[in-house]
Amino acid sequence: MIDMHSHFFPPITREEAHAVEPERAPWLAVETGADTGQIMLADRPFRPVYRALWDPNFRVAELDQQGIETQIVCATPVMFGYAWEASKAAEWAARMNDRAIDFCAPHPRRLKALAQVPLQDLKLACAEASRAKAAGCVGVQIGNHLGDKDLDHEQLVDFLIHCAEQAIPVLVHPWDMMGGNRMKKWMLPWLVAMPAETQLGMLSLILSGAMERIPESLKICFAHGGGGFAFLLGRVDNAWRHRDIVRQDCPNLPSSYARRFHVDSAVFDPRALRLLTEVMGPDRVMLGSDYPFPLGEQRIGNLIQHADFLSKDDRHRLLRGNAEAFFAL
Ligand SMILES: [Zn+2]
Repeated sequence: MIDMHSHFFPPITREEAHAVEPERAPWLAVETGADTGQIMLADRPFRPVYRALWDPNFRVAELDQQGIETQIVCATPVMFGYAWEASKAAEWAARMNDRAIDFCAPHPRRLKALAQVPLQDLKLACAEASRAKAAGCVGVQIGNHLGDKDLDHEQLVDFLIHCAEQAIPVLVHPWDMMGGNRMKKWMLPWLVAMPAETQLGMLSLILSGAMERIPESLKICFAHGGGGFAFLLGRVDNAWRHRDIVRQDCPNLPSSYARRFHVDSAVFDPRALRLLTEVMGPDRVMLGSDYPFPLGEQRIGNLIQHADFLSKDDRHRLLRGNAEAFFAL
């Protein structure tokens, strides 16, 4: 099995983070030798985490238990630095990408890295994506928006075109969720806003006409099964048919673009996985766990392995073949 959606966070010290951005750079608070710690922002706890996030040997031992042959790791989104001054973020991204490559180095067949980029500056982002690929990353991960700019913004579309031209696969991860003041409890930003962010990213690419500009060769995958996208695609098609303002920038039926996207399998319910494989196609869904966080699939691959509505060949595609093709492994 290949798990294509997992996160790492290097042991960034408080001093290192504060030297870059004292108020906004994240760091890892962990007692020497301890198996648990906290990601910190400035001096506030952001998220409790455990050893798999920063220790590759510990992680591979867990992957052995889970039967995962290869895992693709990417930054924890709090590391993005999109709101920082661009040259500072570029230097940080390069450093984090080198740390990601170092994280994978002891287990080159088991762990592969996606790069992060300073998305706030097109030139710097393209340069770092290409540099990181040459240095060993198998693709890039980007957030689904840059402040008020969604994926249809010219700057982000140009970045995606660069990735298409350079054959750099892209994972789009939701982050910095909408609806802040109304979602203070019960992890609602993760349960409601995160899937909406992903759907917004996909629809902004389709309805803006950006997919007409982006080469078909772009390999782009959206996390968490594409959020609400597959379930609500019929609503979008209906709106496109009956309201000219929905059609104004998008020449073709929205659902006709679904084949241009990949998604991961992190939907946690066989009925959702069935819909997802029917809407996106069984060659467009890839095993992705969101390991090692508690909102990820705890027994990685369990949902797909028990999906008796899929053929054996299709299950194998979801568990391995699609990711091999997507990342050219
Ligand atoms: Zn994730």
